[in-house]
Amino acid sequence: MQTLARKSLIVATVMAFAVPAFAQQAEPQMKHQDTEVYAPVPPTVTPGKTDADPPSDAIILFDGKNQDEWVSAQDHTPARWIVADGTLTVSKEHGVGNIETKKTFRDYQLHIEWKIPTTITGSDQARGNSGVFLASTGPGDAGYELQVLDNYNNKTYVNGEAGSIYKQAIPLATPSRKPGEWQTYDVVWTAPRFNGDGTLETPAFVTVFFNGVVVLNHFQVEGQTLFVGKPFYKAYDRAPIKLQAHGDKSEPISFRNIWVRELTFDPTYKK
Ligand code: MG
Repeated sequence: MQTLARKSLIVATVMAFAVPAFAQQAEPQMKHQDTEVYAPVPPTVTPGKTDADPPSDAIILFDGKNQDEWVSAQDHTPARWIVADGTLTVSKEHGVGNIETKKTFRDYQLHIEWKIPTTITGSDQARGNSGVFLASTGPGDAGYELQVLDNYNNKTYVNGEAGSIYKQAIPLATPSRKPGEWQTYDVVWTAPRFNGDGTLETPAFVTVFFNGVVVLNHFQVEGQTLFVGKPFYKAYDRAPIKLQAHGDKSEPISFRNIWVRELTFDPTYKK
């Protein structure tokens, strides 16, 4: 017992000296200026009139007037969806299909608004199905789909709801509005990086606000979003953003106020 008591005393003595020594290491003689940096200076951006309006450095993808920024995803001919009353509506015409941006992107912030028509019919995945493909990597690829669907009183598999990364991420909430009301996605997309040999260096990450509610919080994407099978990555660099014509029998959905900001200023990213 005496030995144990002596050992305890030694340990206590060592700790009594060690703790202040460690604390001293963590707090050297620093001035507040030592942790303040003045470069690189972030760019000045003038915000929109409201948070839904494009800031000064945004690229406008649809402002209600025309679909000049879009092409057919299949053959890159001019987009042939329907522009009317300030909205861009999926065309049900046979063979028109998905559309994608002419421009390509890597990391970005995206704002997009969409509306399910009040005349919507169908159920499950066949009710207001569309999608925002955050990277459209080629006609033969599935791409990376942020699902668009009528989830107001419409049950489906939860990793296929509006606000999901299709069949990968269950949204953190279901803040769907009624058909006929405009809904918003505000997306932060960090594209995947690939090594020179095509293997994955870092996966994609995505954060999504759905009607102002966070539904994906820095979700680590597992790869392309497949209808059947497991997701996988395939190397790409920059990619268009694609909108889905799902081909449902019900009335098609509409989009408006689409803008994107490329995220090129990142003082922490070393690559
Ligand atoms: Mg879809």
